[in-house]
Amino acid sequence: MLKDRLFSLLSKYNLRVKDSLGQNFLIVPDIIEKAIEVGEVSERDIILEVGPGLGFLTDELAKRARKVYAIEVDKRIIEILKKEYNWKNVEIIQGDAVKIEWPEFNKVISNLPYQISSPFTFKLLKTEFERAVLMYQLEFAQRMIAKPGSRNYSRLSLMIQALADVKIVMKIGKGAFYPRPKVDSALVLLKLKPKNERIYLHEGLVNALFQHKRKLVGKALRESAYILGMDKRVLKNIKVPYSNKRVYQLTPQEVKDIEEFLKGKGIIGENS
Ligand code: SAM
Repeated sequence: MLKDRLFSLLSKYNLRVKDSLGQNFLIVPDIIEKAIEVGEVSERDIILEVGPGLGFLTDELAKRARKVYAIEVDKRIIEILKKEYNWKNVEIIQGDAVKIEWPEFNKVISNLPYQISSPFTFKLLKTEFERAVLMYQLEFAQRMIAKPGSRNYSRLSLMIQALADVKIVMKIGKGAFYPRPKVDSALVLLKLKPKNERIYLHEGLVNALFQHKRKLVGKALRESAYILGMDKRVLKNIKVPYSNKRVYQLTPQEVKDIEEFLKGKGIIGENS
C-alpha cells in the first residue's frame, strides 16, 4: 500500500509536508498506472517529471523509460530520494522548475504542484515535446479545455488551444492524495499540434482583449488600448473584424485575424 509506505517515510525522516509547495502525494497506484499508460511510456523515452516528491511515480517511470529527469525544489525531499532509491536512470535536479533551464526530454509525466500550473504550462508550450500527462486542479483543467463561448473560456483556454490539443483523461477526487487537498483534480493529456497548425498569438493583444472578456471586441480593444500603447481614438474609425462578437466567443484563428488586421493598419507591432 502506497499510503503505508508514505506514512512510514514521513515518520522515518520526520518530514512535515509543506502546503506552500503543493506537497499532496498521490497514493493510488491505479492513477500512477493510468498516467504512464496515457503517456505511452516506453524504453525509448526521456521523461521530465516535476516534483518527484517521495518518488512513487518516479519509481514506476524509471522502470519503463530510458531516462527520467526529476526536478524537485525541496532539498529535504532530495535527501530522502537519494537514501531510499538506487535508480540508475534517474537524474534528480534541484531547483524551481519554472525558473531553471530544462534538460532535453520527449515526454512529461507529473503530478504538478498546483501553484505553478500556469507558468509551468506556458513554459512547456514554448518547448517541443511529444506528449505531457499532467495532474492539475480540476477547475484549471476545465479552463484548459473550455470551448469558445462557454463559461470557462479564458485567456488560458485560448493560448493553450492555439498550440496544443488538450483533454481531460480522468477526474480525481481529493481522497487520492495525502494530505487531502482542498480541491478536486484532473489528469490531463496535452499534445502539441503539428507545426503547420499551431497559431502563435500576440500575447499583448490577447491580454488586452481578455481584460474585458464579456465585452464586444471593438469596445474591449478601445478600453484596453493603453495596454498596447495605442491611442484609443485611432480605433474609433476602423471596423475591427468580429467586432460584433464578444471576446470570450473568439477562436484562436479569429484572434489571429484581428492581430493581422491591426498589424496591417500599423496599429500594433510584432509580438510584445
Ligand atoms: N510526484 C509526487 C507524487 O505524485 O506523490 C509529489 C507531487 S506533489 C503534488 C508536488 C511536488 O513538487 C512536491 O514534491 C514539491 O516539493 C515539488 N515542488 C513544488 N514546487 C516546485 C517547483 N517550483 N519546482 C519543482 N518542484 C516543486
